[in-house]
Amino acid sequence: MNIKTKLTFSIGILVAMIVLLVALSVVNLQILTATEPDSPAAMPGLNRALIWISSIGALCIGIGIAMWLKLPNAIDKPIKELTNGIQEIANHNYEKRLNLDGNQEFANVSHNFNRMAKRLADYHASTLSEIMAAKKYLEAIINSISDPIIGLSPDKAILFINDEALNVLNLKREDVFCTPAQEISLRNDLLRRLMRGLLDEINLKKEEKEPLKIYADNKESYFQVKYVNIKQPGRDGVTPENRGHVIMLKNITEFKELDSAKTTFISTISHELKTPISAILMSLQLLEDKRIGGLNNEQAELANTIKENSDRLLNITSELLNMTQVESGKLQLKPKITKPIELIEYAIKANRVQAEKFNIQIEVQYPEKIEKLFVDSEKIAWVLTNLLSNAIRYSPEGSRVIIGAHQTADNHIQLYVQDFGKGIDPRYHKSIFDHYFRVPGTKVQGSGLGLSISRDFVEAHGGTLTVESELGKGSTFTMQFNI
Ligand code: ADP
Repeated sequence: MNIKTKLTFSIGILVAMIVLLVALSVVNLQILTATEPDSPAAMPGLNRALIWISSIGALCIGIGIAMWLKLPNAIDKPIKELTNGIQEIANHNYEKRLNLDGNQEFANVSHNFNRMAKRLADYHASTLSEIMAAKKYLEAIINSISDPIIGLSPDKAILFINDEALNVLNLKREDVFCTPAQEISLRNDLLRRLMRGLLDEINLKKEEKEPLKIYADNKESYFQVKYVNIKQPGRDGVTPENRGHVIMLKNITEFKELDSAKTTFISTISHELKTPISAILMSLQLLEDKRIGGLNNEQAELANTIKENSDRLLNITSELLNMTQVESGKLQLKPKITKPIELIEYAIKANRVQAEKFNIQIEVQYPEKIEKLFVDSEKIAWVLTNLLSNAIRYSPEGSRVIIGAHQTADNHIQLYVQDFGKGIDPRYHKSIFDHYFRVPGTKVQGSGLGLSISRDFVEAHGGTLTVESELGKGSTFTMQFNI
């Protein structure tokens, strides 16, 4: 029965009762006016009328009280239940259902409510399971990557970490998940180094990154660290916002081992080549000795070509040997107090023949007063010789080259070599210090090793080797040392 029927029915009963009550009262009044009030004949009629009036009156009051109690409840209860249901849905309890079938209007509402809740529950279950499946899939991908990988939120909490990273960092998954990396790094040296690297990267303090040496699984491994900044469009859908970082470690142990095998190989070969080349040069010296017998012009020319090439070979082997010393970390400096002029004189002497051959005039610029250097004179003389040799080789015949020393106002000593040759394109000013790099189109023969070894030697002394050069105008290479 719906509320409207209930109301109509109840009011109808009440009205009928009241009408009956009024009718009885009227009957009663008529009896009273038609008869003598004190006459015994009127008494039974009066009593009956009174009983009827009282019972109907009592019934009316009873029905009224019942309606007063029942009716508000009949409306209030389903509304309360409906409000409660809506609140449960708002709290994501999609399992909530209403049962208001006893009430016609609310039965409909509860039916629709239940339908809506079911659809929400289905939708929630499907999206949640999809999200969970996607999350598991991503985790599986990350775990299947054989290199360590760590994902950090913008406030540097660990969002994901694969098994390899846990293994390398010696951590347990349950100890790190959603924990601030900085907190873990307090008790984990490796993570501390990684976090320091990340902060340097964020603050743009980028330095040449050395591979990270890590002891994991009882063996030494080398890793190249890469920091990736994760960016996503912000609320406006355009401006990228920082969503955290990913730290990737690439295992380069294999390359390191190959590199070290290569270094050992080059070192052994260069060492082994030095003896036969020296023997060739010695034999050539003997050939040139007139006491053994003279050479005709053609033979002398051939002997000279063999000598030049043997010299070159010896130079290359010594460059290779120097390079392997630096690469294997076996470079040992024997510093001693050295006058800069001694180094300059050594370099000029070593290049005299070449300078004469190309008719290059070597000028020396040397101040009257200059402090001494504390360097491995053999190594720095080798660098200066190499710079002077380059200046001569890359200059046109008949030009001049300046070699000199200078003490700066802030107490540094500079050794420099300046030429007026073809110069170096600014694009290559950095690369000429790389192993085996030669400016494209360079015709003069060379190995591309001299400058890289020179820079390593100078830097091993805490000094710097720089270039200033302009195409067509010439180049100046400057070494600078602290006194
Ligand atoms: P190499 O001279 O044996 O090729 P280096 O490492 O000494 O190797 O030099 C690397 C390259 O830099 C050279 O190949 C050459 O192209 C360029 N270079 C070096 N010095 C000079 C110079 N003084 N003038 C012009 N180019 C130079």
